[in-house]
Amino acid sequence: MTTPPNDAEARRAVQPVICYPVETLPAPDLSLYRAARATAVKVDEVVVQPRDAASFTAKAGQFFRISSIEGPQVGDLNLFNANDLTERFYSGKTRALHRTHITTGDRMWSCHPYLRPMATIIEDTLGWYGMDEFGGSVHDVIGTRCDPYTNNLLSGGQYHYCCHSNLTRALADHADLSLDEAERAVHDVLNVFMCTGFTRDTGQYFMKASPVRPGDYLEMFAEIDVLGVLSACPGGDCSTVHSSDQAACYPLLVEVFAPAEGALGDWASPPVNGYDRSHGR
Ligand SMILES: [Zn+2]
Repeated sequence: MTTPPNDAEARRAVQPVICYPVETLPAPDLSLYRAARATAVKVDEVVVQPRDAASFTAKAGQFFRISSIEGPQVGDLNLFNANDLTERFYSGKTRALHRTHITTGDRMWSCHPYLRPMATIIEDTLGWYGMDEFGGSVHDVIGTRCDPYTNNLLSGGQYHYCCHSNLTRALADHADLSLDEAERAVHDVLNVFMCTGFTRDTGQYFMKASPVRPGDYLEMFAEIDVLGVLSACPGGDCSTVHSSDQAACYPLLVEVFAPAEGALGDWASPPVNGYDRSHGR
């Protein structure tokens, strides 16, 4: 610990400012999306088995819902442009634009040079949870995904069913990629249903038992054609351990819904970002 200067308290007392005032971001038209959703019918469903991952696609204008079905279970979601796997979810910028944990009205943003909404949350049955006394909240974009490399660093083992590996296998199978190619496309996730935060005293990433119960769901509107890959985390509800076969794990259900023809009016997918990419040259 360094010696604080005489004006340490005054420096600490400076008020923070929001990095990204988002008033100028185009707001999602939730009432339009919900009206379209009321006309929608299910067109696909996928069950993600425990300690494994599965892929699904939703066309622009469709909806996808991730549900807890048999017991409390956390899901790690990767999202790609279904037509271009180089456009993928950007967890860090989503966090900076919205918050550490996302909920209804927030969006999943894509990476550079695209940086546009890929999906918008239209319903979150855990929206009531808010922020608990520990600073914990649900659906985080602060974690990464459990992975066998970190596990190897910390405990020296070879565990093959971390979310990173589950996502790698499922993406390889869907896109006919080698494991190496698929692994390099796997990215930091939206931690669906996971309850996490940073400890107030040491700033360490923590998890606690997810408040999710069977019947809870997170539903999104697909702003572009998306390929989703969802892992049912080996941590189960993430109340104790992950990166092992010790925790109780349950499947997750993904359902895709298509609205009636014309229900979205003249809605169109958002264009890719308007920056000209000349970078000062
Ligand atoms: Zn995991």
